[in-house]
Amino acid sequence: MAWQQILGHDKNVERFAGSLKRNRMASTFLFVGPAGVGKRTFALQLAQGLLCESNADDSIDPCDQCPSCQQVIASTHPDLIQVSRPPGKAFIPVELFIGDKEHRRQRGLCHDIGLKPFSGKRKVAIIDDADFLNVEGANSLLKTLEEPPSDSILILIGTSEQQQLSTIVSRSQVIRFAPLSEEHVATILGRIQLETEIPIEQLAPASGGSIERAKKLIEPEVLEFRNSFHRKLASLDPAANGYTKDMLGFIDGAGKDASAKRDRAVLAGDFAIEFYSHWLASLTGADANTCDPSVKSAIEMTPDTSDHDTNEIAVRIAQCIETTVMMQRKIRSNVSSANAVEMWLRDLGRACRGQLVDAVDDLVV
Ligand SMILES: [Zn+2]
Repeated sequence: MAWQQILGHDKNVERFAGSLKRNRMASTFLFVGPAGVGKRTFALQLAQGLLCESNADDSIDPCDQCPSCQQVIASTHPDLIQVSRPPGKAFIPVELFIGDKEHRRQRGLCHDIGLKPFSGKRKVAIIDDADFLNVEGANSLLKTLEEPPSDSILILIGTSEQQQLSTIVSRSQVIRFAPLSEEHVATILGRIQLETEIPIEQLAPASGGSIERAKKLIEPEVLEFRNSFHRKLASLDPAANGYTKDMLGFIDGAGKDASAKRDRAVLAGDFAIEFYSHWLASLTGADANTCDPSVKSAIEMTPDTSDHDTNEIAVRIAQCIETTVMMQRKIRSNVSSANAVEMWLRDLGRACRGQLVDAVDDLVV
């Protein structure tokens, strides 16, 4: 496809086009940004442009027609290496980088990227889910990052620099991807034609700029849960009236699969962060018009804080966000959802009342 079809990341497109034209393309990139904003699509488009047989050597525009382009689209190009976390695995297995024990350094990404390109142009490797690189996996990559084979490009994709090991970040050029605008989300949702009764005009503002989030919102009861959870958060005591049970019911609604349940708990955290960050922005008068209706009406339901010191309120809201990030981190490291969620909702109430003083310290530990 044409680069114009990649929405919301024009600056990054210009950056790559310019550096290739000037022959100053780095060899290792770390793409960071929220899930579902198009980082992987961008990486594949770039790979296609770099491997295309018909375009000029200094162009990232793919022709879409040549055998190389067709192979990238079909994920069968011999010079495109793709690695991601297999379903159900906590980390990307080191074997995918350096081969299994019988074939150490004879197979895997680090070996394959050093082979002569089949098409004669270059090798491109994409590591998706870089958030799930463990120390062993990252160490196995170091030699390749330090001495990248000539004409090779390696792209790691993760959600933030903070999630990556410093050994990776220090050897990569970091490329940031921002959330998509509501308009771009609406355009993309129109293209992919989700099977849902929920109108795009309702989904786009609720998506937080993420297509992945929009896809989750169309699952049964998720949008309703989100909107009612926002109102619950506005009450400032989300653990009251047995709400923890409702929350756990929502998490269990993901089905029997444990990782799907963890995703639900993390999603609930994302909804909370969405509410708190908009509330924080509204304290300074920013953001009032661009806000999603559910968040906006929930913020209107929060108690009047005009008698309070705005800084103090801001600190409490920031603590709510920190507490939420901490809960998500616990869930991702397989702490029991029930315990983590119960403690989280209770701590949100304490933070709102100004009774939570240790959230930041806990986060650092
Ligand atoms: Zn082509």
